[in-house]
Amino acid sequence: MSSEKDDFVVFKDDPAAAALAPDEGTPAVAPTSSGLHWRVLIVDDDADVHSATEFALSGLEILERPLQFLHAYSGAEAIEVLMSEDDIAVILLDVVMETEEAGLAAISTIRTDLGLTHTQIILRTGQPGYAPELETIRRYQINDYRTKSELSRVKIYTALTASIRTYEHLKRLDHARTGVELVVKTGAEMLAASSATAALEILLLRAAELLGVPPTGSLAGTGDDEGTLSVIAAVGDWKSATGQSLNEIAVPHGSLVQSRVAQSQNEGRSLIDPDGYTIHLAAGTAQTLIAYLPNVERAPLASRQLLDVFSANVAVCAENLTLVQRLKSFAFVDSLTGLASRRAFVDTLNQRLRGKPRSCTAVALIDIDQFAETNDMFGHEYGDEVLRGIGKRLRDSLPSEVFLARLAADSFALLGTPEQLAIPALRRTLALPFVFGGEERMISVSSSLVEAAEAEENADGNDLLKDASIVIKRGKAQGLGRHTSYTRQFREEARAHSRTLHELGNAFRRDELYLAYQPQIDLQTNSVIGVEALLRWRLPDGKHIPPDRFIPIAENSGLIKPIGNWVLTTATAAIVKMLDVGYPDLHVAVNVSPTQLATEDFLNHLDRTLTSSGLNPSCIELEVTESASVLGFEHLSAQLNGFRDRGVAIAIDDFGTGYSSLSYLDRLPVDRLKIDRAFVTALTDPKQGPRIAELVVPLGRSLGMKVLAEGVETEEQAQILTAMGCHEAQGYLYARPMPLDELLEWLSQRRSR
Ligand code: C2E
Ligand code: CA
Ligand code: CA
Repeated sequence: MSSEKDDFVVFKDDPAAAALAPDEGTPAVAPTSSGLHWRVLIVDDDADVHSATEFALSGLEILERPLQFLHAYSGAEAIEVLMSEDDIAVILLDVVMETEEAGLAAISTIRTDLGLTHTQIILRTGQPGYAPELETIRRYQINDYRTKSELSRVKIYTALTASIRTYEHLKRLDHARTGVELVVKTGAEMLAASSATAALEILLLRAAELLGVPPTGSLAGTGDDEGTLSVIAAVGDWKSATGQSLNEIAVPHGSLVQSRVAQSQNEGRSLIDPDGYTIHLAAGTAQTLIAYLPNVERAPLASRQLLDVFSANVAVCAENLTLVQRLKSFAFVDSLTGLASRRAFVDTLNQRLRGKPRSCTAVALIDIDQFAETNDMFGHEYGDEVLRGIGKRLRDSLPSEVFLARLAADSFALLGTPEQLAIPALRRTLALPFVFGGEERMISVSSSLVEAAEAEENADGNDLLKDASIVIKRGKAQGLGRHTSYTRQFREEARAHSRTLHELGNAFRRDELYLAYQPQIDLQTNSVIGVEALLRWRLPDGKHIPPDRFIPIAENSGLIKPIGNWVLTTATAAIVKMLDVGYPDLHVAVNVSPTQLATEDFLNHLDRTLTSSGLNPSCIELEVTESASVLGFEHLSAQLNGFRDRGVAIAIDDFGTGYSSLSYLDRLPVDRLKIDRAFVTALTDPKQGPRIAELVVPLGRSLGMKVLAEGVETEEQAQILTAMGCHEAQGYLYARPMPLDELLEWLSQRRSR
């Protein structure tokens, strides 16, 4: 009669047993290591069951791993083993041991107290009569239930296989859950990394964490165009390998790493080997990244799916990373010349200003003269050739320590010590002919130099560049092909300039500006025809700042617009006042700068002023200088016609000092020509004489305009002018500019004379 136990011992009746029998030579599994085995705990109070089970399963592999057995002889002992050992896949559990239900009691401790939810429990009982109900199976979370009689070798193998598969699946799910979290985290961390190297190191550390191996490993990448692999990042013990080519890698298992990486590259996939993990990251098309992480402890190997999820996700990040790097390099490199960009220049300059004494730093600008014209004339390709040629000439002739950048279309910036930026030598090299399109050409350049020590104390990179470009503009205004250095004097001027502007703004807000009025006289009748409004700035201490000093500054900054509007309003109020006190035939002349004529603002303001004052528009005259021709004929003509349409008079101021508008003077709606004071002064100057006045007075007359001479200081001048046919005059001979109340006083005295 055979008991259930015999079933284990004697398998002769089991036809499938032969197929499962191990080879004679299969080595026994080392009982101490759990890593690459499935651990099975046998719990039974009968020692024979232990040996029979072990014997029945000896040498068998399940899911490509051998089994390792642990033993307990009571429920209590089973709990002890489970508390001290981990990674137990299956428990073969007897029901009746020290008590009738010792096995069942153990189950609840295992599940609830020990929290072992993945471990599979196969309940075995020798008493077929003692079969727990389905309810019991569910309640005790038993995974399988067998009577010992059922457990033939094949049957127990089948039951174990199913249990182990479930156990592995559960563990993998768990791992995958944390793995997915880790993958997501890794991506975010990589993109936030400060550099590409830092990002790749994060990749390696997280991969090690995911795979459960120590944080050591290396990442090989095809860094160059030839596609040779080198270690572009490494962590842990392997950090020193960074920068080595894969052939010379000297880390432990160097040659193994090489062959794994080579295999992964050839096969285009990740590899899982007992010695480690090779993660294939296909980052874009240009670059291959392959990470190798040694599995020194030969711990359980992570699943392929997880590795694939990791590499796919991280590869996307790595690709973004190269994209980001490329974008960064775009911003820092000028693609046409290969030189640094403006941004890179300013960054480098700022770093240098922080790190070195200012006396070590100078910035030079080289501007190609008339580059836009060259481009228009010879085409953009030719222009590009010129830029590349100059860039190359600069690079070749400058010491390698000089930082060279292309700032804008036609300007290059140089950064070095004042000695390194030797301008005369540089200009000599640039003066040599270039060969473009097979022909020799000369290129004219302007240059400027700013020594950081000369500039404002806390000037940063952008400030220095701004200084350099202001200086170069100044030089260009004097003529092309010049070099201009930033000097202390320039700096003081610039500083005074900005201080004046600041104070002018304040003065305007605080009503420290006022208008002075200078009478204009009819030379024939000696009567007053009108006044010119002239802007005055009186400081709180009573001193005056001359208009010639602050008006150009106001014009450059645009502050002249609100001030100019205020002048018109105030002058209009003055003429209304004069009308009120009995001078009906006077006009007020108001100076209007080109800046004010650039937009419609002034015209709109004129409309508002005329409407609100109800003044006859012919009482207002607008003085425009010849320099307004910079606006272009069309624009200037449109503005002046706008004034004319409103019935306002127009005078050309400082006539004769400019020349550009002479040609179209007859096509502009002009009422009066004001001959500049310089020609009036020249009248009685033996060297210069009356030539220009003799030219201008008949010109104005022939065009049907009134001709007014400015700056008349002597009777003699007045007489000469009258003899020439000049209609009117204005100057100290008659009156100085004066505030409105003085003017009214002056007018009444003159009338009563
Ligand atoms: P301007 O329009 O040519 O004004 C005539 C200048 O000659 C005034 O100088 C006046 O004081 C001065 N002047 C008049 N008679 C004589 C004289 O007999 N001898 C000498 N040596 N000078 C005489 P001011 O007031 O210093 O104005 C200088 C310039 O400032 C003006 O030249 C004008 O271009 C500008 N300006 C003055 N007020 C305004 C304004 O409200 N708006 C604008 N845009 N410019 C103004
Ligand atoms: Ca004037
Ligand atoms: Ca004038």
